[in-house]
Amino acid sequence: MTSAPSKLYADDVSLLVVSLDTNPFFWSTFSFPFSEFISHVLAFFNSILLLSQLNQIVVIATGCNSCSYIYDSSSDSNHSSEAVGMPALYSNLLQKLEEFVAKDEQLGKAQTPGAIASSLLSGSLSMALCYIQRIFRSGPLHPQPRILCLQGSPDGPEQYVAVMNAIFSAQRSTVPIDSCFIGSNNSAFLQQASYITGGIYYRPPQLDGLFQYLSMVFATDLHSRAFLRLPKSVGVDFRASCFCHKQTIDMGYVCSVCLSIFCEHHQKCSTCGSVFGQSQSAANL
Ligand SMILES: [Zn+2]
Ligand SMILES: [Zn+2]
Repeated sequence: MTSAPSKLYADDVSLLVVSLDTNPFFWSTFSFPFSEFISHVLAFFNSILLLSQLNQIVVIATGCNSCSYIYDSSSDSNHSSEAVGMPALYSNLLQKLEEFVAKDEQLGKAQTPGAIASSLLSGSLSMALCYIQRIFRSGPLHPQPRILCLQGSPDGPEQYVAVMNAIFSAQRSTVPIDSCFIGSNNSAFLQQASYITGGIYYRPPQLDGLFQYLSMVFATDLHSRAFLRLPKSVGVDFRASCFCHKQTIDMGYVCSVCLSIFCEHHQKCSTCGSVFGQSQSAANL
């Protein structure tokens, strides 16, 4: 009997860190309204918390200028909600979300409007990994962490290096990155993130049933996944972005010292300073 709690923790208890895409540039042009999306996602969060009282959810809002923690189910403030007739989860999260979106919009005014279409995935992945590292160091008994990216915005090639660093860091800590991508084209960043970390990448074909997809595919804890037939990836876009212009490229030059990628020939590597000789050749990425 004494070993029961530790076994329970090791197998079944989930810590789900969610990156929630709030990019207004994406949502204002997308056919599925943000309010609908949120109602599906909140129902999903509720079902995760109902699966085990030890399950924990942390939500990070991912805007186009900033990221912020907007909800933590383990925090005490969730139990003292003033709103009558509305579950604490909903009122707290929605209020924080509203504040975040307003603040994120203000930050954007300093920059050129319309220039940014991608959201700050690299920032929210880094914040998720920081949170998870803190849990890892909190003691031997901790829930099994995983990251879920609920993303719709297209990839920002300028974030390539930061996103890849976050992916490799998650891989090293054996934290799977699950991706539910709702945009019209697949996300190469998230395909690579899920592939490299052993998570699930899935693009729901019908957003009306988003809750069903979320609860059938992404609610399963890491232990149970071994017994299920979850969607397999159909293919991964492995293309990289060049370090010089931050553009997605098919062919490029790779520095043999630091593995930086360039779309055109340079005399000197801008990352590590190595001087290139004549024998350098193009590598197919
Ligand atoms: Zn370039
Ligand atoms: Zn180099």
